[in-house]
Amino acid sequence: MSESYEQERTVAFEAVQAAATLTESVRESMGEVLKKDDRSPVTVADFGSQALICRALMETFPQDPVIAEEDSSALRNPDNTDVRDQVLEHVQAHHEAATPEGVYAWIDHGTAREYSDRFWTLDPIDGTKGFVRGDQYAIALALIENGIPQVAALCCPHLPPDLADDDPDTRGQAFLAVRGEGTLQRSLNQDTEPTPIHTSNTTEPSQSRFTESFVSSHSSHDLAVEVAERLGITADPFRLDSQAKYAAVATGNADIYLRLPRPGTDYTERIWDHAAGALVVEAAGGTVTDMHGSPLDFTHGRLLKQNTGIVATNGAVHQDVIDALEASTS
Ligand code: AMP
Ligand code: MG
Repeated sequence: MSESYEQERTVAFEAVQAAATLTESVRESMGEVLKKDDRSPVTVADFGSQALICRALMETFPQDPVIAEEDSSALRNPDNTDVRDQVLEHVQAHHEAATPEGVYAWIDHGTAREYSDRFWTLDPIDGTKGFVRGDQYAIALALIENGIPQVAALCCPHLPPDLADDDPDTRGQAFLAVRGEGTLQRSLNQDTEPTPIHTSNTTEPSQSRFTESFVSSHSSHDLAVEVAERLGITADPFRLDSQAKYAAVATGNADIYLRLPRPGTDYTERIWDHAAGALVVEAAGGTVTDMHGSPLDFTHGRLLKQNTGIVATNGAVHQDVIDALEASTS
């Protein structure tokens, strides 16, 4: 990579990895408490992650608005002092002098809502259902300038380098992408330099493997089966929570990420669920559009208002996927 956005990428990459340390320590301290209906661990991790990352952005880029998923209102509620105290304790492991008011202010640095020429977007924990289950989740941060993601930092604390051989000892990958300069990957559990990655070189659609949401209410598994049949795909999909799906495509573990609205539903995608992941794929040589082949439009505040569904591919098979989708839905 050359040297553009040097400060942005350093701060963003460090911030998502620090946040991952926090979210993983929340998981460890909760241990067996991480049961089905207890949402508090994910809440602690969510707020803690947003506090750390927004603090880092505030310090270095105080003028940049941040459109993040959370705000501190629930945390300020006197009914939630227990959660607040846990957030504070985890944040203090990184910043000893942190106070409740300071943490609220850091979190609320992420409450911009409107589009501007330069802003960051953050999902402090993407894939909360995966986090609770002990599966995939991600911390996703992107800098958007003039509507286009330019820098992305994506941390996937449970992602193995090889999805076909999920060795628990190898889990944990961080990705850094700068538009036009490539995508780097580093393992969270080895002290090695980040290395460049590239999407797969699969050109024959039938040889592709796709990835989709684990949660079927987030993406139509039925329509994906139809598209896969049309393309002659026989491999089973990787079902993953979070933007780990984009990482799967960027690393060549998968060739296609399909996110297809279920018939009859009307969901508008959030920018923080896609900005970082999309750039991680594009800078690694892939292509990302909505399900109709239109570019993602990040100029409408929190929402991808102009887009429906998501298709991310290695690039080579992209048009085949869009054509198959068109045939399946018309
Ligand atoms: P995933 O882990 O990829 O299945 O998706 C997680 C993200 O899905 C969350 O961050 C939510 O913002 C988003 N989400 C929530 N409801 C829906 C829905 N009905 N369709 C698509 N995405 C959704
Ligand atoms: Mg999310």
